[in-house]
Amino acid sequence: MPRPAPGYFTSGLEADPELAAAIGGEVRRQQDGIELIASENLVSRLVLEAQGSVFTNKTVEGPAYARYYGGAEFADAVETLAVSRATKLFGCRFANVQPHSGSNANAGVFLGLLKLGDTILAMDTAAGGHISHGHPATLTGRDYEIVRYGVSRATERINLDEVRALAQARRPKLIVAGGSAYPRALDVSGLRAVADEVGALLMVDMAHFAGLVAAGLHPNPFPHAHVVTSTTYKSLRGARGGLVLWDDDALSGRINAGIFPGVQGSVMMHIVAGKAACFGEALRPDFVAYNQAVVDGAQTLAATLAEAGVRLVAGGTDTGLMLVDLVNHGLTGDVAAKALEAAGLAVNKNQIPFDPRPPEAPSGLRLSSNAGAARGFGVAEFASIGGWILRVLNAPADGGAIETVRSEVRELCARFPIYPAA
Ligand SMILES: *Cc1c(COP(=O)(O)O)cnc(C)c1O
Repeated sequence: MPRPAPGYFTSGLEADPELAAAIGGEVRRQQDGIELIASENLVSRLVLEAQGSVFTNKTVEGPAYARYYGGAEFADAVETLAVSRATKLFGCRFANVQPHSGSNANAGVFLGLLKLGDTILAMDTAAGGHISHGHPATLTGRDYEIVRYGVSRATERINLDEVRALAQARRPKLIVAGGSAYPRALDVSGLRAVADEVGALLMVDMAHFAGLVAAGLHPNPFPHAHVVTSTTYKSLRGARGGLVLWDDDALSGRINAGIFPGVQGSVMMHIVAGKAACFGEALRPDFVAYNQAVVDGAQTLAATLAEAGVRLVAGGTDTGLMLVDLVNHGLTGDVAAKALEAAGLAVNKNQIPFDPRPPEAPSGLRLSSNAGAARGFGVAEFASIGGWILRVLNAPADGGAIETVRSEVRELCARFPIYPAA
C-alpha cells in the first residue's frame, strides 16, 4: 500500500514556497497598510485556527444530531455551540449558522419563505442596498418580483412614508432592510409597523452593523424583525460566512429547508467552528469595548473630514461605516481609491444616492473603522487617518505627497502589529 508522502500530515506552508510567498505577502500587506474597506476586518488568531482546523475534512448535511452521514458527534457539538452562542448574542430563539455567505443566507430565506414570483420590497443598490436583495443580475432578481425603495433626496435617509406608500401599492410578501452602504441606524420598529400594515414579513440584513447590535450600540432588530440575516466576517469580526436568526418556530422548517437543501449542500464545518469562535468572542465584555472603538473611530474620522469641508452622505454615521461625496473635490471614486491605495489606505469606490455617475467611476468612497479598531486604533489614530485621506484627496496626482503619506502610514502600522510574519 502506498504511504502518505513524508510530512503530509505534519509539514505546513514551508512545503509549498510559491504559495507561502503569496500568503506571506498578504500578511505583510495587511500589516503595513490601513484597511478601511467596510466588508473586511481582522480576525483573531483563535478564529484563524478554528477555520483552519480538521473540520475541513468532515462532511455533514442537515441539522445537528440529524445528519445524513455518521461520525458527526463533534461536528454536532461545534454547530450546537455556534447556534447557542448566536441566539444568546442577539437575543432570539433560533439560528442557522450554515450559510456559506451572506448572499446564501438571503437566498435561502427567500427560497424558504416565498413562492416563485412573490413580491419583495427591498432597498435599491443605488441607494446603498445590497446586490443579494434581488438585483436583476442575481438569481433572486430573476425569481421574485422586486420593488425598490431608496432614500429621500433631502436627508439621504430611508423615508418610511415612501416605504409605506410602495408597500401599500405593491403588497410585498417580504420587506428587506439593511444595506452595504447605508451609514445610519435603521428604524426597525417603524419598518415593522409598515410590514404589519400590509401583512408582509420583515427581514433585516445586519451584515454591516451586527457587531454593534451584539454590543448594544445599535438598536437590535429583535423583536421587530421576523428574520435577521448577517455575514459573520464584517462587523462581527469572524469567520467568512453567513447567518440567519429568527424567533418564531413556525418559520423554522421553511428557513432551514431554504438553506439546505434549498441553496446549499454540505456544511463548511471548519467555517462553522470559526463562527462558534467569533460568537464566543462577541459574548465577552471586551467586544463591547471593541465596538465602542469602532463607533468612536468612525465619529472621529467623519468629523476630521467634515471639518475640512468634505461632504458625508446623510450628514455622517451612526455605525462604523460612512460614505464620502467627492463631487466638491472634482474627483471620482475610482481615481481617489487608487491614490489612497498607493498611500497605504485601502478604501472602495462607491456610488452615492442619486449618483449621476456610473458604478465604475462613481462620485463617492466608502470608509469603515472596523478593521482599524480591531488592531487597536483609537481616536488619535483615526484623526491621523482623516488627515492623510485629506492630503491625498487634495493632491491625488502628487507622487511625492503620496509617498510621504505612505511612509507615515507604515510607521503607524508598525506600532500596531497584527499576525506574526508567516
Ligand atoms: C456583504 C453583504 C452581503 C453578502 O455577503 P457575501 O458573503 O459577500 O455573500 C449581504 N448583505 C449585506 C447587507 C452585505 O453587506
